[in-house]
Amino acid sequence: MRLTNRAKHMEQKPMTLMERMYIPAIAQGLGITIKHFFRKKATIQYPEQKRELSVTFRGLHVLKRDEEGRERCTACGLCALACPAEAISMEAAERKKGEEHLYREEKYAAVYEINMLRCIFCGLCEEACPKAAIFLQNDTMAPAFYERNEVIYGKDRLVEPIDKRANTGIQKYTGVKS
Ligand code: SF4
Ligand code: SF4
Repeated sequence: MRLTNRAKHMEQKPMTLMERMYIPAIAQGLGITIKHFFRKKATIQYPEQKRELSVTFRGLHVLKRDEEGRERCTACGLCALACPAEAISMEAAERKKGEEHLYREEKYAAVYEINMLRCIFCGLCEEACPKAAIFLQNDTMAPAFYERNEVIYGKDRLVEPIDKRANTGIQKYTGVKS
């Protein structure tokens, strides 16, 4: 039983002599190849050449410090909860007396890890963070990995160096550094 009248009955026409010789089709194919040979290439010589990234590009994560150089993260776990890939894990610790110059809040992340093999760079951790502590940089891509033990990024690679501040989300959208 037909539900609609959209079905078309197709008939295969017999091939002409020229079509059976395949020469016009080969010439047409060669013509297309030659045309593309002189066109601007769609590919680039990466990593020597790099494409300009969008301002909204979500690249490698960074754990930010505040204006005084203290770690912003308070190990609240909201980023891990928001992460659809379950890529984030952490261990919280209590700030001790004398560590006020290191950690902004009374609780901080003694261990903070992101599994880059799981991460899909969705940016939900950045959106969930109430302390503006985690950002996905728009000018740094996650590198390629060759060993499995390279894919877990700990604080040693996530916390921004004190003398080399990373781009934040504010800069991402406004161009103003913070
Ligand atoms: S970018 Fe997305 S997948 Fe990656 S750690 Fe953040 S929330 Fe998880
Ligand atoms: S990065 Fe932000 S959301 Fe994640 S644990 Fe630290 S303070 Fe909480």
